[in-house]
Formats: sequence, C-alpha cells, structure tokens
Amino acid sequence: MNLINHSFEDYPMQTQHVHSGEGVAPTQRKGWKRPYPVKTPWWFKSLYPKRIWHLDRGEQKIYLSFDDGPHPVATPFVLDILKQYNARATFFCIGKNVEAYPAIYNRIISEGHAVGNHTQDHLNGWKTETSTYLDNVAKAGKLIQSALFRPPYGRLRSVQARQLSRYRIIMWDVLSGDFDPSVSPACCAENVLKHTNNGSIVVFHDSQKAWEKMKFALPLVIEHFSKAGYGFSVIPGG
Ligand SMILES: [Zn+2]
Repeated sequence: MNLINHSFEDYPMQTQHVHSGEGVAPTQRKGWKRPYPVKTPWWFKSLYPKRIWHLDRGEQKIYLSFDDGPHPVATPFVLDILKQYNARATFFCIGKNVEAYPAIYNRIISEGHAVGNHTQDHLNGWKTETSTYLDNVAKAGKLIQSALFRPPYGRLRSVQARQLSRYRIIMWDVLSGDFDPSVSPACCAENVLKHTNNGSIVVFHDSQKAWEKMKFALPLVIEHFSKAGYGFSVIPGG
C-alpha cells in the first residue's frame, strides 16, 4: 500500500496557523512553526493568476477535491458518500496509486467524477529538476486521462508551469487540513464549513494519513452544504 501523504510543512503558503482566521499578515505569524492558510488569501492567488483557485462565485456550487488516491479504504468511502448525496467531485490521483488500485480508479470514472494528474510519485516541484518533474507528470498522464493537474504540496516552479501549459493547473481556496496531525477531526470540519462558499475548490485527501479526519469531516460538510442548497460538481476538464 502506498501511504504517500502531504506534509503540511511543504505547503507553499506558510503564513498562518490552521486555527486562526483569514487575513492575518504573514509577518505577524512568524512564531508559528507549521503555519499555512486554510483559506487562500486573495493576494497569494494574484501572484499566480493563471492557476485556478476557485470557480464561478455566482453559482451555488462547491468543487470538492481529493488528493493522493486511489486508496483502498478512503476512496471507496468517499465514493459511497458522494453517491448518497448525488454529488460529484474531482480526484487528483498519484500515478503509482492508480497502478496499485486500478479497479478503484475505474470506479471513480464510472461514477461520473473527474480525475486529475498529481504526478506519478508525488514529487515536490521545488525540489525536483524540471525535466525529471515533467517526465513524472507524463508518466502519470499515460494512466490518467485528464486536462487537470494539481502540483503535490502546491509547489510548482514557474518554469515547470510553463511546460505544463496543456493542463489547467488547479489549486484551491479552502484546505481542510486533514493531512495535518495537529488538527482535530472537528477542526478539520470547521475549517471547511467556515471558509467554503460559492465556487470554492476544497481540498481533502483520500489517503492513509488523512483518513481519520476526512471520514469525520466529509459527511458533515456534505450534509451541511446540501441542506443549504449547494450542489457539488466536477472541475471542468477532468
Ligand atoms: Zn498530494
């Protein structure tokens, strides 16, 4: 079983602790050892305008996304609950996990969800030579037919992004924090409930590391926003 997970220390926007609210300047938060924003700040999005941080704010739709699968337990759990609510989502898969769990990958597709490329081996773009990185994306691309790409850890150098122009690079505006050992399941749910609105792209993980938190938070999130009249859609291009 591949247990590849995000490390929160590797998230790009190390500016704010998960429990704090939005809008706090990074310089005020230097004391936090492992900070990152739950809600991506507007000014950070503006640094990378070609990357997609959210979708149409005019529509009452939420774009749930699940990174790092397929996983033999977490992914079927997610698919079951999505089916229960007639919800759709986008799965950013790691190529070698697709190789390990092809039946689960096929279930994602057959149930109407979108998929995206998350590299073959979950590489960190900042730490990987561009040619190696691109080869790894291409390897995953043979398994994952999609025009969507999400860089692991959100880390992608501009030179790499330019070479991936055939993809829509999908970031997020709400991080659940399910990958973070210091976040409780309840806090993970609250992160999403508090910060999600029209057009939000929300990140969860179908991975071993996030499992305990995701399985608690996801049902609450789907129930809450369904009752509030939101729909859950795939990110176009997957
Ligand atoms: Zn990932």
